[in-house]
Amino acid sequence: MFDKDYKNEEVVIRHHRIGPGESKLIKVAIDRLPTGTMIEIPVYVFNAKEPGPSILLQAGLHGDEVNGVDILRQMLSKDYFRLRRGCVVVVPLLNVFGFLNFSRNLHGKDVNRSFPGSKRGSLASRVAYYHIKEIAENIDFAIDYHTGGDQRNNYPQVRYTEGSEVGRKLAEIFHAPYSFASPLIAKSFRKEADKNGIPVIVFEGGESKRFDKFAAREGIAGALRVLAHFGMIDSALAPPPSRKMITLTKRRWIRAKTSGLFTTTIDNGDKVEKGQCIAYITDTYGETLTEVITPFSGYIFCVNNDPVVNMGEALFHLGTGA
Ligand SMILES: [Zn+2]
Repeated sequence: MFDKDYKNEEVVIRHHRIGPGESKLIKVAIDRLPTGTMIEIPVYVFNAKEPGPSILLQAGLHGDEVNGVDILRQMLSKDYFRLRRGCVVVVPLLNVFGFLNFSRNLHGKDVNRSFPGSKRGSLASRVAYYHIKEIAENIDFAIDYHTGGDQRNNYPQVRYTEGSEVGRKLAEIFHAPYSFASPLIAKSFRKEADKNGIPVIVFEGGESKRFDKFAAREGIAGALRVLAHFGMIDSALAPPPSRKMITLTKRRWIRAKTSGLFTTTIDNGDKVEKGQCIAYITDTYGETLTEVITPFSGYIFCVNNDPVVNMGEALFHLGTGA
């Protein structure tokens, strides 16, 4: 599956040439803020002398999902990319504008719903356009780091594209606690990359605007296992998985049947039984109490950390698998 005849090619991004054996930080200029400050996407390229696959590690497509940004920052600072072969392109923060505004979006638009983008479009559309034309152009596959949106905390998990054997295999090598196949979302980076023949796996861990040390450790360990698998780094750097990965085959959101104060009685990642009470929703005066009951046995892989919830809101993501 991965036995492609990888060539040792020069990487060209925004007129910068990074030959075999070279590393470089490139700043891809997108636009100026109204204050005149230029906004640039930082792109690190590590190109080994020996040929091998070219892998993109990116985070911050959603500007407030800072855990992924920190995962790549840690990997850069620990000097993990002294490669033996192949090439790694690291984009630690794609949506610089959203990051500055503590926002998922860029001026109200989701970059991950703006692909393939246009160079004359909105800022989100332009970020998408330059990403595909200048960065994604150089890669064989990608790991895209995300977290849960709002206050929903995702237990470390990898999503791969339904029907993609390469994606499934990459998820297995990454070996997060949970993994599952998910459909391609219209105008997303994963869908556009897939159209261009670039399989993408999405790591989800933690929640927006928060660091999550456990999720970060899993996100780093998974990437190191992928790099070690291809002989790009010393295999001693990649921690062996401490448990079996569970592949989820059926998933369902458990939603709030009423509004009120929300208290969970389980931990994210827990195994639960059908009919188990996993949380309470009470009114603010302690007069009513509603139990949240699981519809089937399985694993909780996302928990809403919002203490006050409204009717219909997603509380837990529950999945079954082995
Ligand atoms: Zn995201």
